[in-house]
Amino acid sequence: MEKVVIIGTGCAGLTAAIYTARAQLAPLVLSGIMPGGLLTTTSIVENFPGFPEGIDGYELMTRLQKQAERFGAQVRFATVDSVDLSQRPFRLVIDGEPVLAQSIIIASGAGHKHLDCPGEVELEKHGVTYCATCDGALPMFRNQPLVVVGGGDSACEEASYLTRFGSKVYLVHRRDTLRASRIMAERTLANPKIQPIWDSAVTEIQDVKAGKVTGVTLKNLKTGATSQLPCAGVFVAIGHHPNTRLFQGQIDLDEAGYVVRPHGARTSVEGVFVAGDCSDKEYRQAITAAGMGCAAGLECERYLSGLTA
Ligand code: NAP
Repeated sequence: MEKVVIIGTGCAGLTAAIYTARAQLAPLVLSGIMPGGLLTTTSIVENFPGFPEGIDGYELMTRLQKQAERFGAQVRFATVDSVDLSQRPFRLVIDGEPVLAQSIIIASGAGHKHLDCPGEVELEKHGVTYCATCDGALPMFRNQPLVVVGGGDSACEEASYLTRFGSKVYLVHRRDTLRASRIMAERTLANPKIQPIWDSAVTEIQDVKAGKVTGVTLKNLKTGATSQLPCAGVFVAIGHHPNTRLFQGQIDLDEAGYVVRPHGARTSVEGVFVAGDCSDKEYRQAITAAGMGCAAGLECERYLSGLTA
């Protein structure tokens, strides 16, 4: 039987792994289909404290994994097929194999919603990005026209942030009013460097052949007219979906599917803890996920020592 199973190897899961491994709990850490989590989809991470020159997202995650393994974490490239949290020990099926666990830390992260238009997948990391905070300051976006897609707080925040770098920021939204909070919406629309493009969808991103973003095709959803807009970057900010389907009906999730934390890193089920983006729709930063992973590791350790006391 495992003392701790950690589901997810993003910043949250691997930080929880470092803490529980150093507590000699030899956590079993499962990567799922995206080892290293969302951070591996970005290029240079410039806002993780301790790396003044920035660090490649993939390299940061590799270092975190090595650090956890150094203290005895067992990191496995494996996917959880199912969990049963109704009885203790908890029962999991991992790549078809049954595993028992005294405690679980859920750090399954969140996925970016995609536009699902031609060019999006091909040009990811070559001008198409899902995080202005992570990528906005990259040289390829400096003094260039940039496109942000979305109408919520994230899109407004990203558009405002990008005005520091781009020559102009186009905010492309599918309706004619923003969903964002009033203060964010007003601030965004008052910014002279941001130009909203209403009632419009990005239907294609160019130029796959050139290997970089050179523009987008827009479709006006009211008139059906299409147009071209030259730009060097497309920042997709149309929301996230937490990776929590596995736990539906077993622990409390909010209406958007995020794991509810009644206290600290605890969930509604005793012995099950949570950290990172699957429980955070507010900050979604690598460093906040790492902090939550630390909290989940500490609380899990306390819970397990209570079981044996
Ligand atoms: P959101 O509020 O769900 O907004 C998503 C936006 O993307 C909406 O405007 C939506 O259009 C649009 N959208 C969704 N799917 C689309 C698609 N397939 N194609 C084109 N557009 C699409 O998401 P969010 O902005 O990430 O915010 C999530 C939560 O975090 C919110 O509660 C927000 O308040 C919070 N948040 C807060 C802050 C802050 O306070 N600083 C910052 C960021 C986020 P429609 O409007 O037509 O639905």
